[in-house]
Amino acid sequence: MLTTRPFTYAAPTTIADAVALIDTGGPGTKFLAGGTTLYDLMKLGVETPAAVVDLGRIPELAIVDTTGDQLVIGAGARMCDVAEDPVLLHDYPALAESLSLAASQQLRTMATVGGNLLQRTRCAYFRAGAPFACNKRDPGSGCAAREGIDRVHAVLGVSDSCIATYAGDWAVALLAFDALVDVVGPGGERTLPVADLHREPGDTPQIEHTLAPNELIVRIRVPPTDTGRASTYLKIRDRESYAFALASAAVGLAVDGDVVRNARIALGGVATRPWRARAAEESLIDAPVTADTARRAGRIAFADARPGRHNGYKIELGARTVANALLIAAQRSVR
Ligand SMILES: Cc1cc2nc3c(=O)[nH]c(=O)nc-3n(C[C@H](O)[C@H](O)[C@H](O)COP(=O)(O)OP(=O)(O)OC[C@H]3O[C@@H](n4cnc5c(N)ncnc54)[C@H](O)[C@@H]3O)c2cc1C
Ligand code: SF4
Repeated sequence: MLTTRPFTYAAPTTIADAVALIDTGGPGTKFLAGGTTLYDLMKLGVETPAAVVDLGRIPELAIVDTTGDQLVIGAGARMCDVAEDPVLLHDYPALAESLSLAASQQLRTMATVGGNLLQRTRCAYFRAGAPFACNKRDPGSGCAAREGIDRVHAVLGVSDSCIATYAGDWAVALLAFDALVDVVGPGGERTLPVADLHREPGDTPQIEHTLAPNELIVRIRVPPTDTGRASTYLKIRDRESYAFALASAAVGLAVDGDVVRNARIALGGVATRPWRARAAEESLIDAPVTADTARRAGRIAFADARPGRHNGYKIELGARTVANALLIAAQRSVR
């Protein structure tokens, strides 16, 4: 039987109006960007907003400026446009690759870089709903994945309540470069590191990020770094295109002679949130990148992994992904 769920639609032209409309829209009112996640989840009954507030007519959200010391990327910029920005392609290939390897060209043409940050997990039990138990969708109901098929689920940052993987690519690359997010809410503007945007599930997997419902992401900023040029985003998946990561690594290096002076490593597809591998980074400092040091860094990155029944392969796959990404980044350090 066809279920209809009426909702209202508003398209403000200023950030202030968008924030005000969220508060007055009714239960579950959501910002709408490209709609590639939100409408999907509305059709599945996961999101049931009384109203949506379309951000597409707010010019300020689409501003991209990559000419200064820091990159400034409006939350409403399309994934396809940012992926092709010449500065990102040359100076931050990991950022460009994380976008161009995500989803499909059609989706990237609709989807925004702000909406991408707040996409939700692709756990099939979460998306299917009843009869499957899901603490994220229905808090306290249980977790069907823990007793079911957990092949694509996380091995890092998991809890007894939820093992769902954070599905996005872009946030992983941003995390490697210590990016910042500027948000506006009724109380004004604040800035938080991308590192503080996503949450591990703990006992409350339904709370996935640290923004209030009425806070709007205005822009993303990437501070200057010496690790941008020698960087890569390596994504391993079941098919070569149009698939989420089984394991991915965003890696950036600053190399002096043969020796690593600065290393950034973040992991995707293996953790409940974008995952920084700091111990692996530290293992590389003052050492050359060789097959051995890269492999060792990969193993260190997964030292705390907690596999389930079908996803133990992610530990070896993820370690190799880190190692191969390091070797690619090291090659780029000599160009
Ligand atoms: C088939 C398929 C395959 C995909 N494959 C990949 C993949 O491989 N890698 C990957 O990274 N992603 C993938 N995606 C996810 C896709 O990239 C996201 O759907 C997209 O980036 C979301 O952007 P959007 O602008 O459409 O967001 P929307 O769907 O409009 O919004 C998503 C969420 O973000 C909120 N939101 C949007 N903008 C803002 C803002 N400025 N401030 C606050 N909240 C906001 C919305 O309220 C909503 O909750 C895939 C999606 C599909 C459907
Ligand atoms: S892993 Fe998380 S999202 Fe998936 S069924 Fe379990 S609680 Fe739900």
